[in-house]
Amino acid sequence: MPTSKTSNASSGKGPRPLLSVAEALTRILEGLAPSQIEICALPDVRGRVLASDIAARLSLPPAAVSAMDGYAVRAADCRGIGATLTRVGESAAGRPWDGSVGVGDAVRIFTGAVVPDGADTILLQEDATATSETQSATITVNEVPREGQFIRPAGLDVTTGDMILAAGTVMSARLIALATSAGHTDVSLWRQPHVGILSTGDELVTPGTTPGPGQIISSNAIYLSSFVAACGAVPVDLGIARDLPGEMLACVRGTTTPLDLVVTTGGASVGTHDHIVNDLSASGTELGFWKIAMRPGKPLIHGRVDGIPLLGLPGNPVSSAVCANIFLRPAIARLSGSDHTPEMISARLATGLQANDQRQDYLRATLEYDLQGQPVVTPARKQDSSMISIYAGANALIVRPPHDAPRQAGDPVMVMPLDPLV
Ligand code: AMP
Ligand code: MG
Repeated sequence: MPTSKTSNASSGKGPRPLLSVAEALTRILEGLAPSQIEICALPDVRGRVLASDIAARLSLPPAAVSAMDGYAVRAADCRGIGATLTRVGESAAGRPWDGSVGVGDAVRIFTGAVVPDGADTILLQEDATATSETQSATITVNEVPREGQFIRPAGLDVTTGDMILAAGTVMSARLIALATSAGHTDVSLWRQPHVGILSTGDELVTPGTTPGPGQIISSNAIYLSSFVAACGAVPVDLGIARDLPGEMLACVRGTTTPLDLVVTTGGASVGTHDHIVNDLSASGTELGFWKIAMRPGKPLIHGRVDGIPLLGLPGNPVSSAVCANIFLRPAIARLSGSDHTPEMISARLATGLQANDQRQDYLRATLEYDLQGQPVVTPARKQDSSMISIYAGANALIVRPPHDAPRQAGDPVMVMPLDPLV
């Protein structure tokens, strides 16, 4: 990670170009890796990331089983309609028949039951008539079965030793079911990253407090805490730092929880009351970069505080939320041992857009599907980065590259659907 302690403000040759979103993301991710491994019981691992590959301990099914109710037979004995067989036993799920099917034999069988030795076909019960449901009953073939029909061979689904899950996989309910079926009860996982969340600003009061003159409720920390949890990490509340030099450092150093990442909001510019950049330039900390060619979110800080990676998000609620989607989510994924690349789709614009400037734009928008099932996206009329109501009502961001030409209604644009949970 670059650790320059100088800002990228203007030099003799004029201001440095802003860092692109892609370059900023690469530099943020470069310094991140998962740390510890822990063993967890499978019922508790949804959303967690596997630290090692998993091989099947059992085959599925463990033996050839019937896929239907009927009779386990030899196809050779059922070549003509009206052929008759003798019932010699019964195989039910969990209660296999341990004999062998010989010439003219039929074994009553049910779904999931082991196919007895000697049988090669399941004659469906609908395709046969039985004189009774008892031993020695005569079974008449009414429909000639196809040889091998309705038998699931041993290992059809999974074979012992097969690699069923790769390290880095995010566990879902269905993957938990797979690992369980293959004989596992617990798995090794990367420890969930602990993400410290710090708000900054003299105007902020905690939720539940009635704001006094000039005060507002700090909503960013609540948003980020929920966001971090939805990404599979553990949020750690670092409180609110007042707009004073050294406050950010004091709050981060005040926690006893070991942190994998610190996220701050606000104070990210270089105004009189913004202290994150200066605090990071202080001894023992590192400042990477702090200006990105994006809107919303130009002041975005990357650095380390006492060796802990730090992401300094802007204060405006929508800016911090958009930056969380673009930078924080992939950062948490990397710290968790997985990867996150946002899904992007192409959609037709419902209304035109003016030419874009040098910053990559993330426009709050509504994504819908027309009667032909084609995606159509409508940018919100107001794009003010302070307006949480507009962000809350959006379900997608239109991503416009720097210097994008004017777009007409009907033109395709790239759209990033927002995770409905964040
Ligand atoms: P700043 O980047 O500190 O100048 O903040 C930019 C804007 O975001 C200001 O209007 C702040 O009041 C607002 N803001 C900063 N932090 C928060 C927060 N935690 N919750 C809600 N709004 C915030
Ligand atoms: Mg502030």
